Amino acid sequence: MPTQTRDAVDTAPAELLTDEVKSQLQEAIKTVSEKQLREFVAELARKEPAAERELVKMLLVPRSKRKRADEVQSRWMACANCRVEYDVGEDRKAGECQYHPGELEPDYEAFVDDDYDETTIESEELMQEFPENYNWTCCGEDGTVEGCIAGKHVHGGESKKRKR
Ligand SMILES: [Zn+2]
Ligand SMILES: [Zn+2]
Repeated sequence: MPTQTRDAVDTAPAELLTDEVKSQLQEAIKTVSEKQLREFVAELARKEPAAERELVKMLLVPRSKRKRADEVQSRWMACANCRVEYDVGEDRKAGECQYHPGELEPDYEAFVDDDYDETTIESEELMQEFPENYNWTCCGEDGTVEGCIAGKHVHGGESKKRKR
């Protein structure tokens, strides 16, 4: 097993890039912290012009088709309605965005045992763990049912995965 310290990376000669090393690299990309990975990607963009060009394609799109090509914006945005991260560079399609405009309200009677108090029941964690025990105020469906409104993604949202 190769060690995953920085020293090992710095001293690994290019000829050691065997299939085994490459698959270990893919594994390390999956497990390294998001913060660390962001730093590495930023560094890669500064150091390697080819990588920088690829990252521009992956992460940026022109602001509008009529504007100059160097007027760009982030390609990935969280939708204000469904909170999914979507590709701003793609044409918007009707029905691509499914969401509930209402709020999830707990069905207190569904929580039969006394392990949970009111605060816990109203927490995001439990909503994710037991979506069937919550109902949407917009349509009355429970938390496992997909959005009752279908439309197009709109920007201005905050990503689902991001927590503060
Ligand atoms: Zn709904
Ligand atoms: Zn959406």
